Amino acid sequence: MGIEEKLPAGFLLSTVEGLAGYMRKASMWPVTFGLACCAIEMMAVGTPDYDIARFGMERFSATPRQADLMIVAGRVSQKMAPVVRQVYDQMPNPKWVISMGVCASSGGMFNNYAIVQGVDHIVPVDIYLPGCPPRPQMLLNAIIELHKQVQSMPLGVNREAAARAAEAAALEA
Ligand code: SF4
Repeated sequence: MGIEEKLPAGFLLSTVEGLAGYMRKASMWPVTFGLACCAIEMMAVGTPDYDIARFGMERFSATPRQADLMIVAGRVSQKMAPVVRQVYDQMPNPKWVISMGVCASSGGMFNNYAIVQGVDHIVPVDIYLPGCPPRPQMLLNAIIELHKQVQSMPLGVNREAAARAAEAAALEA
């Protein structure tokens, strides 16, 4: 019996995907990006008390071109919305977004004309983190949850195209 018959179907591909997922989650760099009070809690995860360096993520990238995680920390004003999208567009694929705090996720208490009522109107969001503000431990927990998603993400999926298709479907409905 040849080696192909002995191995379970998809063995090689699933192993490569697992390895790619492991490497992606272990080399994630957030883009330097803070919008309001939630950003103070986000900065706290870089301190020794919370130690985001345990994930190799202490290097907040000053350029979106060397970042694959956007943590939207704080309310998004209408004026800031195009900038958020531009920064997101400049990040290479694959990339992920954490919406940190109720303001970023839904506008929170700022139900008015000046604030975008959820950053998912601008960019696709992978993790929504509740709280006002969420504590640094909650952000670390969100990162761990995101790592689980990244670990199991199949190779070759164009997440942006999928998000655009879902957006178009929602508009048609
Ligand atoms: Fe500030 Fe609370 Fe809004 Fe965060 S969720 S930006 S802490 S008001």
